[in-house]
Amino acid sequence: MPDATKIRGKVVVITGGARGIGLATATALQALGAKIAIGDIDETTVKESGAARDFDLYGKLDVTDPASFEAFLDEVEHTVGPVDVLINNAGIMPTGKLADEPDQITRRILDINVYGVILGSKLALNRMLPRGSGHIINIASLAGETHIPGLATYNASKHAVLGFTDTLREEYRETGVRFSSVLPTLTNTELGAGVTAPKLLRPAEPEEIADAIAELIVSPKSKVRVTAVAGIISQVVGLLPEAVGDGIARALGASHAFLEDVDAEQRKAYEDRARNA
Ligand code: NAD
Repeated sequence: MPDATKIRGKVVVITGGARGIGLATATALQALGAKIAIGDIDETTVKESGAARDFDLYGKLDVTDPASFEAFLDEVEHTVGPVDVLINNAGIMPTGKLADEPDQITRRILDINVYGVILGSKLALNRMLPRGSGHIINIASLAGETHIPGLATYNASKHAVLGFTDTLREEYRETGVRFSSVLPTLTNTELGAGVTAPKLLRPAEPEEIADAIAELIVSPKSKVRVTAVAGIISQVVGLLPEAVGDGIARALGASHAFLEDVDAEQRKAYEDRARNA
């Protein structure tokens, strides 16, 4: 159980907070006494989710639009208070082989998953640096340190988030602003609909990611992998000779988990939302 005294009263902004990991995190941090602002491109759902939980602020935010992101942060600072923690969580994961991926979807993945994180970090930094305090938490993925057929552009986007966040950590050392990456395994949200986890890798619940984020706010560190077992497998496989690591990943079923094994019917609603939002 995280130390609530280190979370109580903190102003936390969560992008993509209408559902899934973002909403679970908002709910957990509110229960620990944080002031919560959630923004999401899906205005209807973010308003329903925010009103149902009585968050301090909720509304439309498009992380790919600088004017929208700046206006959202301005509103938070005027109505709730200076942003203590920004969680760059919004992300999409269309699946399929690269040669079949429309270029507009390639750009969309990079725009939301990479540019949105860079933009949010920049805007938050400009507010946090003068105050000499703040914490920017970027939601990457274990896909950011592995390679999974069917997710090439998504893999690229999450590798980018990890490199970006590590760089900021060093670039802004001793400024009082902290940077962390979160690397969830496959997690039970709409984003993973119709996907069966590879062998040995139990899917996480969004609440487990939320708990890890709460721990990060209490005791900042550069990275947290969830679940712990998936994190260890990912790190060990990464240390092995390439052919051995790839062979193990194949044996666990990773080579078809996001391709042939996907239940297209179960996944359809998510793919439609992610591709057209
Ligand atoms: P989700 O689809 O349940 O929620 C993501 C939210 O982001 C949605 O409400 C969506 O409307 C919002 N969003 C999309 N584009 C946006 C934009 N331009 N501006 C603002 N909001 C936008 O997905 P999730 O599983 O909760 O994923 C949250 C994060 O966790 C993502 O970055 C994802 O890549 C990462 N992640 C998820 C898993 C998993 O298996 N679910 C695993 C590892 C990492």
